[in-house]
Amino acid sequence: MKEAGTTIVLGGGVGGVVAANALRKATGAEHRIILIDRQPVHLFAPSLLWLMTGSRSARQISRPLGRMLRKGVEVVCGEIDMIDPRTRRVRVVQEPPSGDGVREFDADYLVVSLGADLAPESIPGLADAGHSFYSLEGAESLRQAVRRFAGGRIVVLTAAPAYKCPAAPYEAAMLIEHEIRRRGLRHDTTIDLYAAEPGPLGVAGPEVSAGVRHLVESKGIGFHPEHQVVNVDPAAGRLSFANGAIAQFDLLAYVPPHRAPRVIRDAGLSDETGWIPTDRDTLHTRHPGVYAIGDVTHIPLIMGKPLPKAGVFAESQAKVVAGVIAAEINGTLNQTWFDGHGGCFIETGGGRAGFGAGDFYAEPAPQVRLRSVGRRWHLGKVLFEKKWLWRGI
Ligand SMILES: Cc1cc2nc3c(=O)[nH]c(=O)nc-3n(C[C@H](O)[C@H](O)[C@H](O)COP(=O)(O)OP(=O)(O)OC[C@H]3O[C@@H](n4cnc5c(N)ncnc54)[C@H](O)[C@@H]3O)c2cc1C
Repeated sequence: MKEAGTTIVLGGGVGGVVAANALRKATGAEHRIILIDRQPVHLFAPSLLWLMTGSRSARQISRPLGRMLRKGVEVVCGEIDMIDPRTRRVRVVQEPPSGDGVREFDADYLVVSLGADLAPESIPGLADAGHSFYSLEGAESLRQAVRRFAGGRIVVLTAAPAYKCPAAPYEAAMLIEHEIRRRGLRHDTTIDLYAAEPGPLGVAGPEVSAGVRHLVESKGIGFHPEHQVVNVDPAAGRLSFANGAIAQFDLLAYVPPHRAPRVIRDAGLSDETGWIPTDRDTLHTRHPGVYAIGDVTHIPLIMGKPLPKAGVFAESQAKVVAGVIAAEINGTLNQTWFDGHGGCFIETGGGRAGFGAGDFYAEPAPQVRLRSVGRRWHLGKVLFEKKWLWRGI
């Protein structure tokens, strides 16, 4: 058994909250667990799609991170601006009212779950031209824009081929289509999805990809794969693509390019992929005592593409890392490994959804199945959301 020490969890999103809770349950109260995030609230990102359609408010899908204190997790609100993975020292800058100045923390174990930063500025004109439903502010402004929309051309765009939750832009297109039809504007509106990638959910295999494409196209949404946007003209409402194509829009909803947070890159934790390489079973990085989970990681699959970035994986990786660390602290044998299994709901509008799930570590390629669309999968997501927000944090 190791002497009681400290685990610092960096990030209070999906992976961070689950890791801190699981570790708290698995270790004695003498082991300190500190969770650090720049935001004082935890946001349930899958519900941003419902916020976009007006069926949720920001308050309904967020919870104060301070609630973790009652479970025995210390919460620090501030910007992590330095990580030394060799000494496991972390520097945090706090602004009033959370604090005033710079604080340093030392850990026996570091769990890095800082997610992916959104980088709309990497495509000229994009940030001024449309609404990113990948952030709270963007989803709110998109909701207002859809409400004001009186007919015309709607474009949903993925501005880079790899992004978290590969289903989300396809869901967004179908949810917007449903909303436009509900308001009687469908005959006056074209809806197109321009994707940088070759097809939906490519890592899940050709059957799932074709299935999701069929769902989208059966709603009269034009699908244009392999269109990498290079420039956006906000005044003219025009997208220019690397293949020479041009598209006009009156309303633009987009997924911005992603990159690892600057502090990760500065710490030398990322590799040439831009993300943190980890052991695929234990999520251990190349630094002793330092683990990385969730969107910030890069886990190559044998088929040549990386494991998709999704909350379902961040959650199960968090539980694995908590198990690995707790086993070391408690002097027991580790019995948890990340096995690459996961699934996600695919909202199609009108209170209906599909569900794709399977084994992403299967060889030679992931084995994933898409279940047919129905009300039960939508209700499943509603129940999951309620459980997460009332019991998860
Ligand atoms: C619209 C949308 C729908 C989605 N739907 C689904 C779904 O249905 N199913 C699914 O599995 N996944 C879904 N996802 C993806 C899922 O939300 C992410 O994969 C998941 O949140 C990743 O967890 P994480 O802990 O790695 O990162 P995050 O949850 O993003 O957490 C990272 C945290 O780190 C903090 N942070 C970053 N840098 C710093 C810093 N320097 N200092 C302090 N704090 C910092 C951030 O504030 C954030 O709280 C969806 C995402 C979006 C945007």
